[in-house]
Amino acid sequence: MAADSRKIIIIAAPSGSGKTSITRFLLQKYSALCLSISAATRQPRGEEKDGVHYHFISEAAFKQKIEANAFVEWEMVYEGSYYGTLKAELDRIWQLGKTPILDIDVKGAIHLQDQFPNQCLSIFIEPPSVEELKKRLESRGTETPESLANRVNKASYELSFKTHFHKTIVNADLAQACAETEAVIKEFLGW
Ligand code: 5GP
Repeated sequence: MAADSRKIIIIAAPSGSGKTSITRFLLQKYSALCLSISAATRQPRGEEKDGVHYHFISEAAFKQKIEANAFVEWEMVYEGSYYGTLKAELDRIWQLGKTPILDIDVKGAIHLQDQFPNQCLSIFIEPPSVEELKKRLESRGTETPESLANRVNKASYELSFKTHFHKTIVNADLAQACAETEAVIKEFLGW
């Protein structure tokens, strides 16, 4: 693939905004899109598998990769938990002739856009309200009261960055948000 055809689609949103459901919808529909699997230092949750949801690695291994310049971006997204996009992962996807979709946090998304200004489409998925987001996270049942509070606080902060993104899509209705995201991506990729 020529360098300028190496596109990147970034989908960022506060946790609980529905971006994982939207990303899953896109990946099921378009085989030319491929999820970029990040490295992460947190423990796997529920059914999560190493190499499928994340490359789960130790903090020491993560820091070695930072030193080795193996990441295009990384962040300590939550206190004590590092997440990062590996250069090798983007290369792997581009070599397949596909376009990577990155489900990453807001700061990581902004860093990445700065590095690849001509190749990125950045989409911010916005919850209808912080109250609604809190309800969604509670019903997911995966959070402790402490991690829930942490995620809700962080969401309010992340919402303040939405103007940095190419497109903002409000997820009040999942099917509609999926359709809007799909349309924006098709336009960007010239499909
Ligand atoms: P979770 O722990 O719920 O899987 O993810 C927490 C947050 O980390 C989500 O907002 C997710 O998008 C973000 N995240 C996942 N992978 C990466 C990454 O490689 N880089 C950055 N900056 N954030 C990531």
